[in-house]
Amino acid sequence: MPNPTMKEVETRLGTVQCAICKGSSFGIDERSMQADGEWRGICRKCYYTFPIYTDMEFYLRTQPDVPYRLKEMSCPTCNQRGVNLNFRITMSVRESIYFLTCTSCQKTYPEQSSLEAFE
Ligand SMILES: [Zn+2]
Ligand SMILES: [Zn+2]
Repeated sequence: MPNPTMKEVETRLGTVQCAICKGSSFGIDERSMQADGEWRGICRKCYYTFPIYTDMEFYLRTQPDVPYRLKEMSCPTCNQRGVNLNFRITMSVRESIYFLTCTSCQKTYPEQSSLEAFE
């Protein structure tokens, strides 16, 4: 599973809302890009920043429950089970969002994470 590109992450952030101003235009602070895959997203409207985690291989290795849950999740478009986790963000203390790709129809979508309870 290749790590997502900056462009891809930026585009897909446009499908969620800022925790503060509810805007949905985000950038990525290039200077924040760490070797461990942790980036920083920034709202273009209110300058709120939040962490983006792109090293999902590492995440899935350290969270053995998550791959099982991903296999059980069904796609809202084709209703087939099984999704890939591309990256995740922590929009606020209570809001963690997973960016998923359906393994059947390749549709991408964000989903509020209920998986965090397992951490
Ligand atoms: Zn904002
Ligand atoms: Zn699908």
